[in-house]
Amino acid sequence: MAPDPFSVRQWDAAHVWHPFTQMQEYLASEPLVVVSAEGHYLIDDRGRRLFDGTSALWCNLFGHRVPEIDAAIIEQLGRFAHTTLLGTTHPAVAELAHTLVEMAPAGLNHVFFSDSGATAVEAALKIAFQYRLLTRGQAAAQQAVYLSLDNAYHGDTLGAAAVGGVELFHDIFKPILLPSLKTLSPYCYRCPIGKTPKDCSIDCADDLEQALARAGGRVCAVILEPGVQAAAGILVLPEGFLTKTAAACRKHGALLILDEVATGFGRTGTLFACQREGVTPDLMCVAKGLTGGYLPVAATLATDAIYDAFLGRYDEYRHFFHGHTYTGHALGCAAALATLGLLADGTIVKAVEKKAATLRAALEPLAAHPHVGDIRQAGFMCGLEIVADRRTKATFPPGERIGYHICLSLRDRGIFLRPLGDVIVLMPPLSSTEDELRHLASSVRAAIVERLGA
Ligand code: PLP
Repeated sequence: MAPDPFSVRQWDAAHVWHPFTQMQEYLASEPLVVVSAEGHYLIDDRGRRLFDGTSALWCNLFGHRVPEIDAAIIEQLGRFAHTTLLGTTHPAVAELAHTLVEMAPAGLNHVFFSDSGATAVEAALKIAFQYRLLTRGQAAAQQAVYLSLDNAYHGDTLGAAAVGGVELFHDIFKPILLPSLKTLSPYCYRCPIGKTPKDCSIDCADDLEQALARAGGRVCAVILEPGVQAAAGILVLPEGFLTKTAAACRKHGALLILDEVATGFGRTGTLFACQREGVTPDLMCVAKGLTGGYLPVAATLATDAIYDAFLGRYDEYRHFFHGHTYTGHALGCAAALATLGLLADGTIVKAVEKKAATLRAALEPLAAHPHVGDIRQAGFMCGLEIVADRRTKATFPPGERIGYHICLSLRDRGIFLRPLGDVIVLMPPLSSTEDELRHLASSVRAAIVERLGA
């Protein structure tokens, strides 16, 4: 039975503290109460159907109530929901680890499971640190630091936030974050070294290499989002940035951690974004799309060299001192296996390239709009940066909440989107049809025109 909408509104307002949400503003607004979902649509308690252009915050790949995923979860539920991976195993987790290794870039043969993007990153950071300790000893480990990019987002736990670089999210927590080194973000629209696409030779990646050189071997790992710095506003990395970064890591003896939490599982038009440049990291983090947006399962993949360094007699205490209660959750593993099954023959991911071109073409009329500064897209990750002045690239005052109001008005057009500041983010499910993508783009255009004029 659908819950009484009156109680939902009242109890939500009274008790639920929503993430990344100014509750005062939220409480003054009309909440969207989702009571069911069907395919790519959320259905609210007023019977409205809204196309979910956020893919449930970037994790839903094939829509809701996908028969294969539903059936896999139900089948696993008939056996058990969860046990522990601390000293035991089960068929779903073993098969999932095997399948992930088969699909990931070659050489990432070991899988450490956790339950969110942030925990996958935490595990990677700690593995990198302990690997340094095990292979280079106490003195080297004590000096170890991480290197990450300005504008990076790797999650909200303290370790992940320490390697983050989104001022608005991370700066206030600085006093309680591990110190980490930062290098330039390839934010091409606002290039940190004043280049334009025409004269760009990816010099920002040289800054990364220089930072590694300056650190004199202290960097135990470089971490970055391959392909797209997503939470910073869908900043698409210039081609070659990743290749240069990987080469710099090799030269300076730092591990390369790639955070594929947002980009993984077909989002950018390849199964993993790093495959576009043929780069294989030492550690790779995945989450979000891994279960098709159904259940919180994440994984940190590692090479043989890293995994082997942790092997030894019990009393050498080389094992990885880290884990979570719900690690390897069986229902989640079943959902992930069904998801990877749907991706296995490559048809869906291949179609992303073609459909992304449709989305690009449908957004094209906005390119000349006086308040659309930049349209950035990598596959099904798309960001429209709204500016007050195209010539100067000046932003609107944050209090005007331009992005928020544009997205709010999209609800009346049957679309659910959530912006990142004044960047309108389009992240539709991979299985969206071309008609849905065209409708999404034309609705966004209409909402922008309604708010800011033609
Ligand atoms: N890493 C990246 C690249 C992300 O985009 C996100 C979330 O958006 C995370 C990590 C954190 O994932 P989670 O919210 O599941 O902890």
